[in-house]
Amino acid sequence: MANRTLLQNGCVITVDRQLGNFWRADVLIEGMKIAAVGPDLGVTDAEVIEASNMIVMPGLIDTHRHLWEGLFRNVSADGILANYFPDVLGVLAPVYRPEDAYSGNLIGALGAIDSGITTLLDWSHIQNTPEHSDAAIKALQDSGIRAVFAYGNPNTSLSDWWFNSSLKHPDDIKRLKPKYFSSDDQLITLALAPRGPCWTTMEVVRHDWALAREVGVPITVHVGVGENGFWGGIDQMYKEGLLGPDTTYIHCCTLTDDELKYIIDTGGTFSIATAVEMQMRHGMPPLDRILRLGGRPSLSVDVETNVPCDMFTQMKAAFQCQRTLVNQRALYGGSFEGENLVTVRDVLEFATIEGARANKLDHKTGSLIPGKEADIIMLHAARLNEFPLNDPIGAVVVGADTGNVDSVFIAGRAMKRNGQLLNVDLNRARQLAIESRDYVVAKSGFTPPAF
Ligand SMILES: [Zn+2]
Repeated sequence: MANRTLLQNGCVITVDRQLGNFWRADVLIEGMKIAAVGPDLGVTDAEVIEASNMIVMPGLIDTHRHLWEGLFRNVSADGILANYFPDVLGVLAPVYRPEDAYSGNLIGALGAIDSGITTLLDWSHIQNTPEHSDAAIKALQDSGIRAVFAYGNPNTSLSDWWFNSSLKHPDDIKRLKPKYFSSDDQLITLALAPRGPCWTTMEVVRHDWALAREVGVPITVHVGVGENGFWGGIDQMYKEGLLGPDTTYIHCCTLTDDELKYIIDTGGTFSIATAVEMQMRHGMPPLDRILRLGGRPSLSVDVETNVPCDMFTQMKAAFQCQRTLVNQRALYGGSFEGENLVTVRDVLEFATIEGARANKLDHKTGSLIPGKEADIIMLHAARLNEFPLNDPIGAVVVGADTGNVDSVFIAGRAMKRNGQLLNVDLNRARQLAIESRDYVVAKSGFTPPAF
């Protein structure tokens, strides 16, 4: 019989609207999967973890992050897109070696797990050579996180690869798929991360979308990013029949309502990085417009060069941004009629089940229902920022921070317990990150911000 672990007497948020939530219930993990959820399961042959001071919930899901940039956390806190492209993609990325892609991905993935993220889409535009791809994938494997490796472009030259680029996406994905992704039933799955119509010619778009569909992997693409998103690329792609349910559209800030509708009508999913969008001049985060049009977005961290690594920040940013817009509009429009404030339940769904849906993993993760894989986190509800517990979902979305993350399970494997990461040599990960960071800075001549 598979290993059985009982999370006992926790406050359980399943996120599943049918199963509901429980002020006090047990969650039984059997091997990789959730075997049962409910009060007083009466299991006697399992390892018991006492969860009576815990919120037990699905692991958080980040649907877009450039994980290799983990080496350069906070380096561009004051920066906007106009700094990010030349500095991060133009100066730092071209000198990355495969081992730097490894150490960036490793420290990034560990930070994600530590903060309660169990699934992350790594939008990996550091494919400078095939060895970079191998190294980035190896780091994901070594970290133990559930990940979508989204095979992006090389960043060997800013002018070649960005801004009306005529370079087609490399086809090394055809080597990677059989080598690492022969099964869909594994912790790491594959997607294509083409640059999209903000950054390339339409000829490249046609080529890259055909490549993804030939290989048979989902697509994740940045659209509606600042002024680069103004020209109507989605409109054009819709007319050409390129949009589909296999695609996640990131940011979407400067898309028209019609373009957002095309995405919804063709079954696409959204990844909104509210904090980055507000800070870096992407345009107004489109959450309110997406909701009005009937869409349900997922959330993402995007760049740790500018924003923190965790989903608590993302949930708060999304919640507050949408409410700011609605409240302002209603106040000055004289009426709240027809206005809908996003709720903490909505936002928690965006960070869990909608993330799973965007990552094409909702059959495995995103909610706590029997049969799904056991991607579970436990948040310390007796910590002084949450106690006493009055509204558990509110406590997660507006009250909690990374300091509440007591335990993390990924596919039933304990990755963090009692506030400590497991299965990892943290000294090695830190050492690799410092060596790589120092190498990239020295080699590129990058000047870190004055202090
Ligand atoms: Zn991005």
